[in-house]
Amino acid sequence: MSISINNLCVIGTGLIGGSLCLSLKDAAAVKNIIGAGRSEETLQKAKQLGIIDAYDLDISDAVKDADIVFVSVPLGATESVFTQIAAGLKRSNNKTAIITDAGSSKQRVQQIAEKVFAGESNRFVAGHPIAGTENSGPAAAFADLYKNRRVILTPTADTDAAAVKRITELWQTVGAEVESMGAEHHDKVLAATSHLPHMLAFGLVHCLENMEDIEDVFRFAAGGFRDVTRIASSDPTMWRDICLNNQQPILDMMKRYKDELDMLYNALEAGDGGKLMEVFEHAKQTRDKFTH
Ligand code: NAP
Repeated sequence: MSISINNLCVIGTGLIGGSLCLSLKDAAAVKNIIGAGRSEETLQKAKQLGIIDAYDLDISDAVKDADIVFVSVPLGATESVFTQIAAGLKRSNNKTAIITDAGSSKQRVQQIAEKVFAGESNRFVAGHPIAGTENSGPAAAFADLYKNRRVILTPTADTDAAAVKRITELWQTVGAEVESMGAEHHDKVLAATSHLPHMLAFGLVHCLENMEDIEDVFRFAAGGFRDVTRIASSDPTMWRDICLNNQQPILDMMKRYKDELDMLYNALEAGDGGKLMEVFEHAKQTRDKFTH
C-alpha cells in the first residue's frame, strides 16, 4: 500500500528524519517537505542534500499546513517539540494533521503526547523504526534505510484507527514491515535487544580506555572488537536520552546481564570448562537460530 502526502513536516532532519524524506521522495509519495529543528546549519544542509524542499526555524509555523508531522529528534527534546507543534496546530486551526514520531522508547513519549495534545492525542501515532546506523545528521541519511526493516507502532485504545492506517501506509511506502504492540512491551523488548547492547558497547570501550596499554589495545583490535563496539560510535546525546527515557527496563536487563557475567566469572575462576562450553554452545545455537 502506497501513501500520497501533500505536505509533510519533518522536525529533526538527521539520520532518521532525513532518510524518511529521501525514500518518500524516491517513491514520489510526497509533494512538499518542510523541515524544522534546532539549528539553521542542519536545516540548510538538509535542503542542500535534497532532503527537504524548505525549512522554517519556528516549529509552530512549520506545522501549519502539514498533513503529517514526523518528529525525529533526541528523546530529551520531545516535550518541547510536541508543545511547539500543539501550539502551531491550534494557532493555524489545523485539525487534520497526524503527528507521529520515531523515538526509541515509547511509554514516556506516549505520556508526553497525552499531556501535551490533551483531548487530541488520538491524532498521535507513536512509532519506532528498527533501523539505523551509528552515524547521525543529514549527511548520514540514505533512501534505503527502511527497506525490509521493521517499524513498530504502539497505538493506544484511543488512537484514531484512520491515523494508524495512514502511518502504516507511510512506512510501507518506504519498504518497511509494520507491527503493532503495546508501549510497555516495546520498551521491554528494545531494552533487551538494543539498549542493553549499547550500554555494553559504551561500557566496554570506556573500560578499555582506562587501561595502561591503551595504544596496543586499540592497535591490535580485531574483527570481534570492531563488531561488538561499532555501536559505541553512536551519538552520545541520543543514547543518554534513550537511557533516561527507558530507565527501569534497561536497569532490569543490566541486572540480568551482571548476574550472567558473575556466573561466567565464577566458572572461569573455577576452571570449569564444562560450564563455559555449555554457555557458549547454548548462546551459539540461539544466535544461529534467530539470525539465519
Ligand atoms: P540525528 O541524526 O542526530 O538527528 C536529530 C535531529 O534532531 C537533528 O536534525 C537535530 O538538529 C534535531 N534536534 C536536536 N535537538 C533538537 C531540539 N532540542 N529541538 C529540535 N530539533 C532538535 O538523530 P537520529 O539518529 O535521526 O535520531 C532521531 C530520533 O530517532 C531519536 O529519538 C532516536 O531515539 C530515534 N531513532 C534513532 C535510531 C538510530 O539508529 N539513529 C533508530 C531508531 C530511532 P541539530 O543538528 O540542529 O541539533
